[in-house]
Amino acid sequence: MNCMHELALMQGILDVVTKNAHSYGLRRITKIKLVIGKLRAVVPDSLEFCFTTLKEDIPLIAQGELEVEIKEIEGSCRRCSHQFLVEGYRFRCPQCECTDVDIVSGSELYVDYIEGD
Ligand SMILES: [Zn+2]
Repeated sequence: MNCMHELALMQGILDVVTKNAHSYGLRRITKIKLVIGKLRAVVPDSLEFCFTTLKEDIPLIAQGELEVEIKEIEGSCRRCSHQFLVEGYRFRCPQCECTDVDIVSGSELYVDYIEGD
């Protein structure tokens, strides 16, 4: 399985989670919730696989589970202000056919919350 992209991503996420856990005084993490926009082109199965592989070496996270929420891509038309779901990466307003579109959702990448004790 080729998941270099996801591996690097997950490594970065687990670094952040580890730092946060220490500052909150957590000794064990039970759950990590991620929010990722579709524009990030992340394959959820690869991400899960990388998580499972990496967490084995991190006692703090070894028992934890991963939940990933994928955000749809949403655009906002600059001409008519119509908001719409972008499908098939077609950045065109369905109302006025304008291609001058702002991305309002879909590029998210953050840890929503962590649970532990
Ligand atoms: Zn429009």
